[in-house]
Amino acid sequence: MILCRKIDEVKNILKNLKKQCKSVGFVPTMGYIHEGHISLVKKALEENDVVIASIFVNPLQFGPNEDFAKYPRNEKRDLAILDSNNVDIVFLPENDEMYGNNFLTKIRVDKLSDVLCGKSRPGHFDGVCTVLSKLFHIIEPDRAYFGLKDYQQYIIVKKMVSDLNFNIKIVGLPIVRDDDGLAISSRNIYLSPENRKTALCLNKSFNIVENLLKNGILEPSIIKNKIKEYILGFKNTRVDYIEIVDTETLEPLNEFKENFLLALAVFIGNTRLIDNRIFSLKSYNC
Ligand code: AMP
Repeated sequence: MILCRKIDEVKNILKNLKKQCKSVGFVPTMGYIHEGHISLVKKALEENDVVIASIFVNPLQFGPNEDFAKYPRNEKRDLAILDSNNVDIVFLPENDEMYGNNFLTKIRVDKLSDVLCGKSRPGHFDGVCTVLSKLFHIIEPDRAYFGLKDYQQYIIVKKMVSDLNFNIKIVGLPIVRDDDGLAISSRNIYLSPENRKTALCLNKSFNIVENLLKNGILEPSIIKNKIKEYILGFKNTRVDYIEIVDTETLEPLNEFKENFLLALAVFIGNTRLIDNRIFSLKSYNC
């Protein structure tokens, strides 16, 4: 595996590979590599000649009171895991390499960035889109791989790529969960053992929704209230949002459509966790 810390270095390596007509799959990450990231790597290996992963904790996507400074980092461990999973190249730039030269540009996808996580984390998706535009220009991959754990990010990136004519296919892959159902996240290490158990309430709320749908409860507001009641029944929980939205526009639904997204952001202690599931009314005979 090749490790590159400089933009010119990685560009040169990729230029040579592209001359040989190699297809390039890209997996952007903030590191602290886990099974969720590896699922993206595996798909990228299946579909491309060369796989490049980036590790960059992007300061632009963190708010002033968020966890940028204490975001989990472990370069040595990450490199070993990526290497053992057959990643070809890792791009691991310092902040200065990415934003050093009086960086002034911002990429923003309107509307889609203002709801759900964008509402609670103003500027977050502008930071995501800005860093991804930069990474896409540096790497020029054929395909880039994203987890549906960050469903809103996936929708926003697809829109950005289409609006700005990036010649990149955006691939979205299913949420990887621990055996007990908790969506894997680098932030899960913040959870105390007790809060780790409580955190299962996010995933378990989806079962509550299933039961409500099976019983013919088709009112989004009733479903959201039931979940809220359930989650707040646990100690140390605080709801950031519980939303039922259109799967493409992310607009809130007052009435169900055939497919809808249930998206949750919940604080367990001080740790903010997100999860989501797409429901299809057809599967509940509604
Ligand atoms: P992050 O390092 O948290 O920025 O995540 C990098 C990529 O991995 C993003 O596309 C995430 O959506 C994806 N990812 C993170 N956790 C999971 C998971 N549990 N399952 C699938 N993809 C994930």
